[in-house]
Formats: sequence, C-alpha cells, structure tokens
Amino acid sequence: MRWAFISDIHANSEALEAVVKDIDTQGIDQIACLGDVVGYGANPNECIDLVEKRCPIVILGNHDAAAIGQLSTQHFNIHAKIAIEWTAGALTEHARTFLGGLQLKSVQPPATLVHATPYEPNMWYYITSLEEAAFNFQFFDTQLCFVGHTHIPIIIVLEDNHEIYVHQDTTLEFSSMSKARFLINLGSVGQPRDHNPAACYGIYDADKCTFTYRRVHYDVGQTQAKMRKIKMPDFLINRLEEGK
Ligand code: ZN
Repeated sequence: MRWAFISDIHANSEALEAVVKDIDTQGIDQIACLGDVVGYGANPNECIDLVEKRCPIVILGNHDAAAIGQLSTQHFNIHAKIAIEWTAGALTEHARTFLGGLQLKSVQPPATLVHATPYEPNMWYYITSLEEAAFNFQFFDTQLCFVGHTHIPIIIVLEDNHEIYVHQDTTLEFSSMSKARFLINLGSVGQPRDHNPAACYGIYDADKCTFTYRRVHYDVGQTQAKMRKIKMPDFLINRLEEGK
C-alpha cells in the first residue's frame, strides 16, 4: 500500500492541483489530508472540492475549525485572523458542512494521523523541539505518527534505547529499524515555511517501509495575483515566493 500524505493546503489551489498531478504519477493507492485545507489563500471552496474528491481520509486543522466558527481566532496572529474572516465569508454551505464533519485523529495502523499533536490534538500545540517531540511519542501507540501544522518538514526518530534525533535526509528507509518509532511532519502544500517555495508532501510505502518527501513547483505568481485581488495582507502574499 502506497500512501500520499498532504497537509496545510491553505486554499492554494495552484499548489494543490500541482501536487495531485504529481501524486497521479507515483502509483499511489490512497491519499490522506492532514488538515488546514483553508485559510490564507483565495480558493477555499475549490480546494475543499478536490480534497473531498481525492482523499478518503481528511483530518481537521485549526484554520478549518476557525473558518466555520468551531475555534476562536483569539490565538491567531493578525494576518491569519484577516484570512479567516475572509474565508468564513467565502465558504459555500457545502464546504462548511464538509469541514464540520472532519475528525481530529485517524489511526491507520501502523500510522496515526493528526494535524497538530498526538497529545490533545484539539489544543493545536506545536512541536518545535526534541523535548516536545519526546513528550508526544507517549501519546500514540503506532510505529509512525504523521502531523502537519508547523509547515516545516521534519522526521524525528525515537530509537528503542530512547535516543531521539532528527533524521538528516528527505528519504527514510526503516525496514531494518522495526523497533524505532517515527514522528513525521509533512510540511505544507500551500504555504511552505522551510525556505523552499515548492509545494511539499510525503509518500509512505507501507510494504517497503519507506517514506520520502516530494517537492512540486507551481505557479506562485498566479496564486499571489488571486490573493492580491481579494486584498489578503502583503505579508501572506510575499511569503509564498520565499517559502517562509
Ligand atoms: Zn497550517
């Protein structure tokens, strides 16, 4: 079984379409989306339609929850708040219903899927250190856990002897590591923040025990032009070309 995991699309339909096109060349059996389909970009409804069509498993993200009023934006920064207000007004009834039906967590052995953290996924905490990662390993039972939320692709390994470290490659081959466990952040399709503007997603091959990131170029200028038209903050528009 070959999985494609996509996360943090953020209403960027150019990035999502480019990623889905790439997925279709990779012999993928199933696509799962780890949340934040909307927020920031100009095409929330179009992204929801494509995700609904292609992803049997979709996890709720904090921007998705905020856009339908399930989560207050009091902890959002001003740019994210402006984007959520616009998104809330733009969503169709169908899109709202779709987002309202999403789950916080899905266990697909040997993997657990959440948007933010396996520990209390409804609290939208961030994993930004090995200490926080080590803490979170206690809150899932599977060998792997896939997350999004920070928009930074990273693979954290917990060895059987409790050693924890960051895997220094964009590809992981773990058939000989049956006792190790992995916390893998999928990066972001629609707003990468690791100084690489190309859309990011991950492919997990459950039979071969491999995981690899893929980067897909898309028309950033077209996405930015649409965001300018709906008067999104310049900060949100400019960051896309720098991937930060
Ligand atoms: Zn996000």
